[in-house]
Formats: sequence, structure tokens, C-alpha cells
Amino acid sequence: MVLLQEEVRRLEAETLALLANTDSPEEIRNLKVKVLGKKGTLTALLRRMGSLPPAERPLMGQIVNEARNKLEQAWNERERMLEEQLLKERLEGERIDVTLPGLRFPKGHLHPLSQVIEEIEDIFLGMGFEIAEGPEIETDYYNFEALNLPKEHPAREMQDSFYISEEILLRTQTSPVQIRTMERQRPRLPVKIIAPGKVYRRDDDATHSPMFHQVEGLFVDRGIRMSDLLGVLLNFSRQMFGAEREIRLRPSFFPFTEPSAEVDVSCMLCGGTGCRVCKGTGWLEILGSGMVHPKVLAMGGYDPREVTGFAFGMGAERVAMLKYGIEDMRLMFDNDLRFLRQF
Ligand SMILES: [Zn+2]
Repeated sequence: MVLLQEEVRRLEAETLALLANTDSPEEIRNLKVKVLGKKGTLTALLRRMGSLPPAERPLMGQIVNEARNKLEQAWNERERMLEEQLLKERLEGERIDVTLPGLRFPKGHLHPLSQVIEEIEDIFLGMGFEIAEGPEIETDYYNFEALNLPKEHPAREMQDSFYISEEILLRTQTSPVQIRTMERQRPRLPVKIIAPGKVYRRDDDATHSPMFHQVEGLFVDRGIRMSDLLGVLLNFSRQMFGAEREIRLRPSFFPFTEPSAEVDVSCMLCGGTGCRVCKGTGWLEILGSGMVHPKVLAMGGYDPREVTGFAFGMGAERVAMLKYGIEDMRLMFDNDLRFLRQF
């Protein structure tokens, strides 16, 4: 009994010493199996208890159990310590240097054309206009007929169009939105809208693109006169191109307005003295306009004997080119960052 007791004590002391020098989780597990496992050294001692006289067995059992508990506790502690140490080492290794410069994310901005369209919208919203929209795939009726361009009208030749079928086409102008808005709103007054959007024509050179943007304007009410058109466009030109701008009207022809006028703005590059951009005239054409044709008012559901109105349409690309001195319209659609970053 005394011998066995001593053996247990010795095994305990040896194991604790070994454990203190073990520093990998795997070694700790192996040691545990070697001592406490089914074929372990302490287990073997426990088996030998059978050789003791029955009276001595309980005390011996107590001693072995105590040793076992003590060792298990020591194991758990060692394992926990080791885990903490490993975690600490890992965190040290992954420490972040907050003084290192970060990655720069390239920041974009609106396309110059979108900027110009938004600016046009803001100017007209400031004059009480609302923004209206319409479909880009349009019927022949809204794109031509309702705008006083019947099927055989020669002016249809002016706008080589992308037809999808006999009656359906990509709209060649934002003017169909005039009719759609009047139809929706009649008989309420005033009708006071601008309609920005994409339009499509079979054109492609430095100053024409098969797809471009127009901003249409329409103001219908009782007693609208040509002078109202002039005032609105002068105000727009000065806000868009500078406070010193003047405008002039030149007689023109559009099927949907009568009378019709092309509107020029005094050249913002030379101030009107004449330069390459304005071809020496001092004037730049910016839009087409006129008093809404009585037939168009009637098509929209308004009585031309009671109300009058004016309409205008401008190319957003043209406005952007004049404002920023861009010479080739195609630059707007190439998406070359060297170009886009300038705005
Ligand atoms: Zn000029």
C-alpha cells in the first residue's frame, strides 16, 4: 500500500513537470493519453489496487482519484494557457498599421451632358415649368401626324427616321410629348412643361449623332404671345451662357408652329464681334421655336380660339458644345475618361 501510494505521488510529480514543459496542444493530448488513457500509467496503477487487501482499497482509491483530479485540472489549465498564448501571437502577427495610406477609390461625376440637361431643367423649373416625359418608341401619329405632319408632308423628308414598322418608329423629336401632355391635361390650364429626352435620326458626323438629346418646351394658356416666348428664352440664354447674352429671332418654318423662328444667342466666345466658332457672324443658333400651330392645339384637345401657346426645342448636345467649346459631338458618346474628367 505504501509503495503503491509512493508510485502514485511520483507519477503525479513527473507528469506535472512534463506538462509544464509541453508547449504544443498535440503533445499535451499525447501526454494525457499516456497517463490517463485506458492503457495509461495512472490507470495501470488503479488496476493494481486489486492486489491490495480489501480494507486498504478505499483509501488507495481516494489517493488515486485525487491524483487524477489534480492532473486533469493541471491539463485544462495548461491547455487554456497555451490557447491564450497562441491567440496573442496570432493577433500580434495580424496587427494593422493604421498609419499606412489607404487605397484610393476613383470618384466619378455626372456626364457633362447630364450636367447640362440638369442645368437646363433647373433654369426652367425656376420659371415655373414642370418636367414631362414620353416614350422613345413612338407611333407615327404622335411623332408626325398630331404635330401637323400628315403622311405625305414633305417636311418628313427632313428627318430621316428609324422606322420599326409602318406605324412605329424611334421618335425623331421630343415634340410628341407636347401632344401626350395636352391630351393628359386637357382642359386644365396652363400647360407649362419642358420635356428632356433622347431622340433618333439617321445622321452621323461631327455635329450630328444618330442618337441625341432634345429639350422640348411648351407653354399653353390664355393670352400667350410671342413676347412671352422671347422673355423666357432671353432669361434662359442669360442664365445658361452669361448675363451679357442677347438673342435674336430669325423667321423659319416648322409644321407645328406658326409663326416659327430660329433663335440665335450672341456668341459667348467673342462677345458678338465675330470668331471662328460663330463663323464671324457674332451669333450662334441654339434652338427652334414658334407659336403653337392652331391644328396642334386642337389635336391636343384645346380650342385654338380660346388659348394660345409657344413651343421650342433645343439640342442638349449643342448647348453643351457651345457652353464648353466642344467641337466634335461624338466625343460626348465615346466615354473617353480623358475627355469626361475635364468637366
Ligand atoms: Zn464668336
